[in-house]
Amino acid sequence: MAYLARIGATDSMVGPPEPVFPFIDRADGTRWVLRLDRGRMPFWIFDRNRRVPGTGWRDYLALLRLRGAQGTVAEALGGAGPIYRRLLEPLAVAALNTAPDEALASLMQAVVAQTLGAGGAACRPLVPREGLSESFIDPALAWLRARGADIRLGRRMQGLERNDDQISVIHCADGAVVLGPDEAVVLAVPAPVAADLVPGLTVPDAFEAILNLHYRAEAPPGEAPFVGIVGGVAEWVFIKPGIVSVTISAANRFLAEPPESLSERVWADVRAACPTLAPEMPQCRVVREKRATFAATAMQQKRRPAVDGAGLANLALAGDWTATGLPATIEGTIRSGETAARFLLRHV
Ligand SMILES: Cc1cc2nc3c(=O)[nH]c(=O)nc-3n(C[C@H](O)[C@H](O)[C@H](O)COP(=O)(O)OP(=O)(O)OC[C@H]3O[C@@H](n4cnc5c(N)ncnc54)[C@H](O)[C@@H]3O)c2cc1C
Repeated sequence: MAYLARIGATDSMVGPPEPVFPFIDRADGTRWVLRLDRGRMPFWIFDRNRRVPGTGWRDYLALLRLRGAQGTVAEALGGAGPIYRRLLEPLAVAALNTAPDEALASLMQAVVAQTLGAGGAACRPLVPREGLSESFIDPALAWLRARGADIRLGRRMQGLERNDDQISVIHCADGAVVLGPDEAVVLAVPAPVAADLVPGLTVPDAFEAILNLHYRAEAPPGEAPFVGIVGGVAEWVFIKPGIVSVTISAANRFLAEPPESLSERVWADVRAACPTLAPEMPQCRVVREKRATFAATAMQQKRRPAVDGAGLANLALAGDWTATGLPATIEGTIRSGETAARFLLRHV
């Protein structure tokens, strides 16, 4: 939010004024809306109309087990009953993009500490009014251009030339950029590209997919423009004008399934979430992002380099895959950029 404020894009994000999260359980059709308090004190856990059905306030103490936990999310939280199935598991899968029996509890703890643990004001569900580019990219480019930055897009980096412990030349497909003595590089490419450009750099090398399905359909937005689904194939249904979109995380398990059968199965979930929709499945587009994020496992966590992981004085690494302390998220990405900038301001 600080980043959005700085680039003048706060208003490009929209969402309910309060931290509310509508859910449906496909196992028995139960619907509920999680209604957090704005402040830090979680009074909502004491109110059966605002917490997860089938849970009592003591169940929420399970979250404390994440503190200092060394193993997986399932090891730390599994067996906690309905609170696990209806809240903690969906949260873990969405935030870590990795199945809970493999995902690191410490990364989940980092997310929980900065969301549920920080109070409802830190949990408002916001989505871009138009798209991620219009919120996070275009205003940032305009901000930089207004301050004299020369931005050149569509130039593929092919190699970095070194001179002792400095990068001296960036080789691009259409020419070279020679660095001056007071110039520096923030390398913000995906992990496999960084590994190619910086020999010897260890980076995450196992990935998880995210699936998005977009249906041409008109559904009335409820209290929030999305519904969380428990016990279905779909995990989150987002309602936009003329389109209903579904997100499925940790989706390597669905990559082999033909899009036709997957979209039919998911449509059943969408109709459960939005009962006014007709039974016939409308036109649907399935988008599979095979390497959406690195897998948030113990093994991959060890492979995430620090900002100075390349060992070069004028090169900082940035990206969701660097050692941000968070899973692969926009939040982690933005923080990694700030870390890279601070590092270079100190060292160059
Ligand atoms: C389907 C999907 C849904 C997601 N949903 C969410 C979400 O809801 N919330 C959330 O927080 N995160 C989400 N994420 C994760 C989020 O998108 C990433 O964490 C974030 O985009 C990573 O940013 P990045 O700058 O590290 O890398 P990227 O966004 O991958 O940027 C890397 C850039 O490097 C460029 N590049 C690559 N090779 C070269 C080269 N040789 N030379 C020059 N440039 C190069 C690429 O073109 C790209 O622009 C989602 C990801 C996916 C795929």
